[in-house]
Amino acid sequence: MPPSRFVDPFGRFLDYVRISITDRCPFRCRYCYPHEPFSFIPHERILRYEDILYLLSLFPSWGIRKVRITGGEPLVRKGVLPFLVKAAALFPSLYMTTNGYFLKESAPTLKEASLKGVNVSLDTLDGTSFCKLTGVDGLERVLSGIDTSLSLGIPLKINAVAMRETLDQIFPLLSFAAARGVTLRFIEQMPISSDPGESFLSQEEVQERIRTRFSLEPLPLEDSASPASLFRIPETGQTVGFISALSHPFCHRCSKVRITSDGKIRSCLSSENELSLLEALRERDPASLEKIFNDSLKQKGLKHCFQSFHHHRGRTMGQVGG
Ligand code: SAM
Ligand code: SF4
Repeated sequence: MPPSRFVDPFGRFLDYVRISITDRCPFRCRYCYPHEPFSFIPHERILRYEDILYLLSLFPSWGIRKVRITGGEPLVRKGVLPFLVKAAALFPSLYMTTNGYFLKESAPTLKEASLKGVNVSLDTLDGTSFCKLTGVDGLERVLSGIDTSLSLGIPLKINAVAMRETLDQIFPLLSFAAARGVTLRFIEQMPISSDPGESFLSQEEVQERIRTRFSLEPLPLEDSASPASLFRIPETGQTVGFISALSHPFCHRCSKVRITSDGKIRSCLSSENELSLLEALRERDPASLEKIFNDSLKQKGLKHCFQSFHHHRGRTMGQVGG
């Protein structure tokens, strides 16, 4: 693959694109959906699968090395499974992030598509707190989705947003992941759709809790652009990661942009600067698309601006594509 064609003003090369294929989701995770009224993007403004596939066909020659399909909840969109099969055939380094609610029935097709990896979000193993946090009584479905995927050999990681109210879930989640040989990563809450307030739990606090039972040995980054710092727990042999945008920003190694489900490119999650790809996509105009990618990168700041919640009342995390 050629090196990336895109470099931002601070010398970071773009080689990773996250594409949100829908802003809809059956869950209402407290940290993701806003507490204020909001509206979904109308269907006619959502990127068509053909448009996304066209974009994916351009990526290899642009030096894009990784694509993640996300949402909203990607598995809720009609026609998503045949789309994923086609997408992975066009762009083999394809990943997906899901809440796991539709994973069990989707797993055989995901296996057939040979997705490079699936991240499943799971913040708690307690059914009551799962229901409280997501608004859906769906823990058992998510767990069976995870186990079905693993039994089929789908490469999987678990991501848990760290929250004060689920502090007691750190060890159950660690045991769950260790028993399955799966990497668990704790994500610090970002002030995007709602203010974490007292619920915010820092990497230090999670690590402090883990160290009451286990040791944490630092590991090298999985790859230079990865947001997660990794540790090995020698007592269990498992790997645990921390994605800590607030306490340990990783902006200096950020190599990604996001594409929203209505076809806007955003070079930083924390910035509301967006450029529309829609017209150039519909016209199948690669030169214009390349220019828009370049223009978007010119807007990429050196650091995120997640200092306070009031700056981030625009799109929700589910709309941008977390
Ligand atoms: N619905 C899918 C899911 O939940 O995995 C994919 C979309 S979701 C927006 C992607 C990731 O963003 C999830 O791991 C979720 O936990 C995370 N996320 C959402 N809001 C967040 C926030 N305010 N801070 C940190 N992570 C957040
Ligand atoms: Fe839905 Fe994922 Fe947002 Fe939860 S984090 S509301 S599952 S999009």
